[in-house]
Amino acid sequence: PTPRGRQTVTVLGATGSIGTSTLDVIARHPERYRLHALTASTRREALRDQCLVHRPAVAVLADERDAAWLRDELGRAGVATEVGSGEAALVEAAEASEVDVVMAAIVGAAGLLPTLAAVCAGKRVLLANKEALVMSGALFMEEVVRHKSLLLPIDSEHNAIYQCLPAEHRGRLNDIGVTQLLLTASGGPFRGWRAEQLAEITPAQACAHPNWSMGRKISVDSATLMNKGLELIEACWLFDARPEQIQVVVHPQSVIHSMAAYSDGSVIAQLGNPDMRTPIAYGLAWPERIDAGVEYLDLFSVARLDFEAPDEAVFPCLRLAREAMHAGGTAPALLNAANEVAVDAFLDGRLGFGDIARVVEAVLDACDVHPANELDAILHEDARARRVAMRQLTR
Ligand code: NAD
Ligand code: MG
Repeated sequence: PTPRGRQTVTVLGATGSIGTSTLDVIARHPERYRLHALTASTRREALRDQCLVHRPAVAVLADERDAAWLRDELGRAGVATEVGSGEAALVEAAEASEVDVVMAAIVGAAGLLPTLAAVCAGKRVLLANKEALVMSGALFMEEVVRHKSLLLPIDSEHNAIYQCLPAEHRGRLNDIGVTQLLLTASGGPFRGWRAEQLAEITPAQACAHPNWSMGRKISVDSATLMNKGLELIEACWLFDARPEQIQVVVHPQSVIHSMAAYSDGSVIAQLGNPDMRTPIAYGLAWPERIDAGVEYLDLFSVARLDFEAPDEAVFPCLRLAREAMHAGGTAPALLNAANEVAVDAFLDGRLGFGDIARVVEAVLDACDVHPANELDAILHEDARARRVAMRQLTR
């Protein structure tokens, strides 16, 4: 064991892209980490296979019927994992007293309550679930401070910026001499396309990201540039930055993961292969460094780094997100909810790719913005935005 003893980890969203990468890193360091809970929504076979390999104390599925099946499977295999189901079990997995670290890797608004529970229990929270922070920004960050939670960004851009800032960067960016945060974007699979070409795009095309292998929802978000919009909002909250202090830079190679520009002209960047195990390992081990299983970055094979401006006329989601952040209050929660409904519909073949931005804009136009300092108000507006977005689908 390390001098400080093993850390006990819960992985929310264990069967997803980030969850699987997290288990890969953890399995490389059995002397440092032990698993408490693994959670998943509906993929019960995948969660069973993870339980057989990683032997967590607890496993959680959304539905009790799936949980009963898993209990039976694990019982017959002689694995002593306790299996629960539903939201209460998810929250318990995040806030249990034996847990030190929570990887928040559920996709979308479904992750808000368990992630917030981990924050309020004062855990080290590794934040991949950007939607939770986008929805509840001010409240979320207040709870981080109040409960002395250590919040470490896992989103590669925010993890990069975190690495480019001084170790203690509490307080405003100006105080540490940072003038701009440069958020890099791959541009997605349709970089350089014209607006007329977007109508025929299929879910399979949208999910085939050039540099990263990710879950389906974030893959579509990367293709519309909504992902960069959500990340702009995420960066404002994490680093106490104004939207004007964040410049989005399209960088197709995805080797520079983001940068911080300082008042003396220095620009500090974090580079690496596009592999989420790097930010995950950083979050797990901070302030130490551990092997993540990631290949050494061979600059000769990268050869060149290109940069261009994002095309907000073809990809309006980035502008919509910036406007929502400016509007403040519940506007980012409305944006996020409308986008989740629209992306779901696109993935099901019920909405065209180019209509995703239209649905989001219609919801932002139709819904008033309210203060977002209470969870109930945020959840209420999230539900309202979903209803308005649904009506837009049948137009
Ligand atoms: P994914 O779809 O691969 O996995 C999502 C996980 O969440 C699964 O384990 C699923 O079972 C669980 N889940 C989904 N809906 C749920 C619900 N209603 N209740 C409980 N659990 C539920 O997604 P992913 O690509 O791993 O992304 C996870 C989060 O991390 C997202 O917020 C995404 O934006 C963020 N992120 C992902 C990447 C990446 O490379 N994949 C990079 C940066 C940030
Ligand atoms: Mg990212």
